[in-house]
Amino acid sequence: MIVILLGPPGVGKGTQGKILCEALGLSHLSTGDLLRAARREGTELGQQAQAFMDRGELVPDGVIVGRVREKLEELGPDAGVVFDGFPRTVPQAEALDRALLDIARKVDRVIVMTADDAVLVRRISGRRSCSSCGTIYNVFTSPPAQEGACDTCGSELTHRKDDAPETVQNRREVYRELTEPLVGHYERAPGTPVVTVDGDQAVDDVQTALRSAVSR
Ligand code: AMP
Repeated sequence: MIVILLGPPGVGKGTQGKILCEALGLSHLSTGDLLRAARREGTELGQQAQAFMDRGELVPDGVIVGRVREKLEELGPDAGVVFDGFPRTVPQAEALDRALLDIARKVDRVIVMTADDAVLVRRISGRRSCSSCGTIYNVFTSPPAQEGACDTCGSELTHRKDDAPETVQNRREVYRELTEPLVGHYERAPGTPVVTVDGDQAVDDVQTALRSAVSR
């Protein structure tokens, strides 16, 4: 099963994608997480990505597609994968289609998560993530037991630099201009159901809707 989660910054792709993968035994492939890890490790990819990410722009297609191909190879030809944050442009989607065709597979489901702008702004301003294990919290809706510390591993929680209001504005424009057209790309693809899920519900309700979208 190959699932793509589409949706604007802050809609909950990361939180929900991780829960979905744990429940269904799928691999969560978040390109944002891959790039943040590469930055922490100081790899060439991390250095290439840094300036783009800090401005809220997309990393060039060639850079990210190469890393996703490697990751798919590591996971193996039969892996079930939930893509989060990839593809983000039509050329990325075409590259993914080709990579999957090479292993006789295709995108099985595209899930478009939606929420009102006010909800997205609140989610992003409250978002905190663990600097060590990556667990995501929200100071308004799902705070950690102890302020500023991860419930899972105790490490410090940080606010992503690219969650600053001016950068978020840019990320939202980039989403509208370059990523939203992917909905049409997949709607035109034969045999790839595109399902919309309302992301402005309680975490459990969004998750239930996602599972039903996957099993349709
Ligand atoms: P995310 O965690 O998905 O919001 O991604 C954070 C940042 O990483 C984005 O604003 C981009 O700068 C970069 N990024 C993540 N995924 C991609 C992608 N598929 N293509 C290009 N840039 C990406």
